[in-house]
Parts: sequence; C-alpha cells; structure tokens
Amino acid sequence: MSKGRPRSSEVFFPKRSLGQNFLVNPRVEQEIIEACALQPDDIVLEIGPGKGVLTRPLADRVKKVLAIEKDNYLAPQLEKEFAGTNVTIEHADVLKYPFEQLPAPMKVVGNLPYNIATPIIEKVLVFRHKFSVFYMTVQLEYGNRIVARPHSKEYGSLSCFVQYYARAQKLFKIPPSAFRPSPKVDSCFLSLRMRPEPARKAHDEEFLFKLIRACFSQRRKMLKNSLAVIYGKEEGEELLRNLNIDPMVRAEDLGLEDYVRLANRGL
Ligand code: SAM
Repeated sequence: MSKGRPRSSEVFFPKRSLGQNFLVNPRVEQEIIEACALQPDDIVLEIGPGKGVLTRPLADRVKKVLAIEKDNYLAPQLEKEFAGTNVTIEHADVLKYPFEQLPAPMKVVGNLPYNIATPIIEKVLVFRHKFSVFYMTVQLEYGNRIVARPHSKEYGSLSCFVQYYARAQKLFKIPPSAFRPSPKVDSCFLSLRMRPEPARKAHDEEFLFKLIRACFSQRRKMLKNSLAVIYGKEEGEELLRNLNIDPMVRAEDLGLEDYVRLANRGL
C-alpha cells in the first residue's frame, strides 16, 4: 500500500500540514452555498474539496466543478465518488496547478488551508481575468485584514494588495465548532469580486506594492520618514506636499488611491 493511502479499516487523521479543518456544520455549509448565489451555467473552481461537503451542493447547482485537492488519500476517494458526474477532481497542488489552462469565466470557492491562504489568493489575483469572484473561508483575523479600511489597525499591505484588484466583502463569521478538528480561532466567509480595472491604476504595480510594504513595515513612523527610504528624505517630503498629503500622517491614514498617486509621481 502506498504512503498516504490508508486501508479502509484505517482511520483518517486530518493533516495539519495541509490545513485540514473540515466543515461539519450543515447549517454553515448551506449558508456558504447560498451566499455564493450560483447560477446553473456557472463553472466553479473549488480549492481543497477535502471530503466533498461543499463539492456536492456545488455540483447540484452549477454546470461544472473543477476541484483541486492535494491530499493523497482524499483525492482518489473524490475521484471515485464523482466519476462520470459534472465534477472533475484534479489530484494536484493548487499552487503548482497551471491556471493558464483553466476555462473562463469561472467562480472560485474554497474553504482555504489557512497556512497557504496568501499564496492562493495571490495566484487567483494574478489570474484574475479568468475569474469573476472568489468566495473563501479564512481565519477571521486574516479576513479582517483583507477587508480593512484606512485608519484601522488591521489595515495594511494585504488590504491594499487585495483591494487593488478586487472588491472585498466579509459576509459572515463562522465559529470554531463548525469545523473538525476545531481551529482555535473564529473564521469568516469572504467574497472578492474581481475589478475589471483598478479604481486608480498604478504605472508600475510592482513598485506600488514595494512602496506600500515599505510604509507599513514601519507603521508607527510618520510617512515622511518611511518614504525617505525609497525617495530620499527631502524628495519624499516634497512629494507628499505636492500631492497635498500631510507628511506627518502614518501609513494607515492613506487610502489605496493615495498610494497609487504617490507611486505614480515617484517614477
Ligand atoms: N472543503 C473542505 C471542507 O470545507 O471541509 C476541506 C477544507 S480544508 C480547510 C482545506 C483543504 O485543502 C483540505 O482538503 C486540504 O487537503 C486541501 N489542501 C491543502 N493544501 C492544498 C494544496 N496546496 N492544493 C490543493 N489542496 C490543498
């Protein structure tokens, strides 16, 4: 018997390394499916189907589901269960899966493995032109950082990065008891609606996010001091004044559009 494939008499132990917290509350499952407002002609990419609790109701509602599961035991089980249906199981690592081969447009749904939530979100956003919306379950504190607005302690480079490409909305909170094993913290269900274009476009997106990270890496500092690292002391302060931004404010006081204005003027 190959490694990772227990005999049927063996017990399946959830793997922490794969962020396995399985949904076990049917009411929450239903809430998630209803929140996705799916249409019969939708094509859905499911990330981490696990034991298929979301896959089944998704398959009932949409035209096609493509579900990517890395677990060496669960993926073959799912392949067997869904053979000959409108569900295709891909036994693969979502981070290595060739998204360029996916059909479009798709909706993405996933109760995400918490340990790789950021690279998954980054990958979906890189391929955003394939997707209309990304529904996800993540840890509440992390979700709060994604949807955070300026002037809050949760607002940071993650909020700016995600909100540049998508409209992020927290839909509802999920208690630890909805999962097995139960995580130590609350989770939440979020939607990211892809923006066809950012509200204000950066000339150089890589530079924009470098600038944002530099400002938030010293979030207690005044902006004029954080910007000195990138533009030099005098130029940074002058740039802020030219853009009518108070040099004494801190990173969390600037909205995303202000960062784009800063980045565009700094080229
Ligand atoms: N959707 C199921 C549910 O709600 O009960 C499982 C959710 S569980 C939080 C995350 C799932 O993602 C697990 O099934 C895990 O094996 C899978 N997973 C973890 N890392 C993965 C990766 N890199 N690629 C694909 N699936 C992965």
